[in-house]
Amino acid sequence: MQRHAALFYIGETMNLKYDAVIIGGGASGLMCAIAAKRKNQNLKVAVIEKNDRVGKKLLSTGNGRCNLTNMNVRADKYVGSFQKQSASIFEKYDAEALLGYFNELGLMTCADSEGRVYPLCRQATSVLDVLRFQCENLGVDIFCAQTVKSIKHSNTFTVTTAEHSFTSDKLVIAAGSKAAPKLGGNGSCADYLKNLGHSFVPFSPALCPVIVNSDVLKSLKGLRANAEVRLIRDGKTIKAERGEVQFNEDNLSGICVFDLSLYSKSGDEISLDLTPDISIEELYIFLSKNKIRFANQTADNILTGVLQKRLSQAVMKQAGVKGFNSLCSELSDDTIRNIANAAKHMSFTVTDNGGFDRAQACKGGVMGSEIDEATMQSRICNNLYVCGEAIDLCGECGGYNLHFAFASGIIAGESL
Ligand SMILES: Cc1cc2nc3c(=O)[nH]c(=O)nc-3n(C[C@H](O)[C@H](O)[C@H](O)COP(=O)(O)OP(=O)(O)OC[C@H]3O[C@@H](n4cnc5c(N)ncnc54)[C@H](O)[C@@H]3O)c2cc1C
Repeated sequence: MQRHAALFYIGETMNLKYDAVIIGGGASGLMCAIAAKRKNQNLKVAVIEKNDRVGKKLLSTGNGRCNLTNMNVRADKYVGSFQKQSASIFEKYDAEALLGYFNELGLMTCADSEGRVYPLCRQATSVLDVLRFQCENLGVDIFCAQTVKSIKHSNTFTVTTAEHSFTSDKLVIAAGSKAAPKLGGNGSCADYLKNLGHSFVPFSPALCPVIVNSDVLKSLKGLRANAEVRLIRDGKTIKAERGEVQFNEDNLSGICVFDLSLYSKSGDEISLDLTPDISIEELYIFLSKNKIRFANQTADNILTGVLQKRLSQAVMKQAGVKGFNSLCSELSDDTIRNIANAAKHMSFTVTDNGGFDRAQACKGGVMGSEIDEATMQSRICNNLYVCGEAIDLCGECGGYNLHFAFASGIIAGESL
């Protein structure tokens, strides 16, 4: 087998000819290059990356630990116009199949109790390293610090950067979304794909904090609490999750809130159940006993032993208790019922999402119906392939987005 070192060209003008050019050296692009060369070692493959190194975003995933897939991967963990089609991808490439693939590349992994899979050493660098080493072994040419300026298509594709011109028979767009611009997200694929005749659902931030309106939020800044969070629209619960909620200046965050952000829109309500393991009736009885237990304490102590102090006071405020100068013994049964109700339904109005800077992923991308899920080839433009977040599919937190990036990258690569 012929082996080439991966090339890193900087500052040297060239006209280069390849069988396949991949735009984007992130999760999907690197995996696509590897799959292409594993299938056909003779294929001349180039990856063009605008950052000065490949896989910058990958290094930040899972808080630097890289949650690369989830044992429960399935289409209903995703939203977007590619959702239905993605089911057959997850049948072929479920978590086990993907982990088998990574194992062959040299990565050992482990799963936590929620099915989230990490590299055994819990370092994202190890995931990027096995991808980089494999690219090097297989002779993938990698061009860093090269932003694609234009793409022209006739019989072949011509991709130009400031320094080079690449001609190729096949082109893969693996340039990701607009999420996390500091790590490379710029959404440039939208223009490329639209110019090549595709419909594109505009990118919008997902898996991010949710900006909310509430008269108690400021008083809670910096607190964290376990809760069941519910996203409510027109009185109906759209999505419910459990986990740790973080209260910030103007937003709620935490993994469970990030998951809601995939579905939320302005005007929705986020309701927190701060005592999810007990019923409202049980809470009412408990607080009624507190009325006696803490009879001579000020009213804001009625939730002592249940919630943190600042959270108790915010709950009391939402329950309509004004001032805490009265004593617990003076609280009426109706007021105690209102307090129990407010603790089970602490309410915030959604006004916005947390923006691209704080988003881990994006909704939007190329319209699902324009991509053949069996090959990741465009149905609009022959010999053009799309993988990863450039497609209109976005998963929940827990490894689902990297899973799709890797799986779609393998399929595209094997189809080149
Ligand atoms: C902080 C953070 C944490 C995350 N944690 C997780 C996690 O634990 N698990 C999980 O499943 N998902 C996680 N994600 C989401 C996951 O990283 C992405 O879904 C995934 O990286 C998408 O892969 P991709 O190949 O489509 O895009 P990317 O990995 O973003 O790669 C696209 C590449 O294309 C390059 N590029 C863009 N435009 C051009 C251009 N014009 N010319 C040349 N190159 C270009 C970019 O620089 C980038 O390197 C996280 C995201 C963030 C921001």
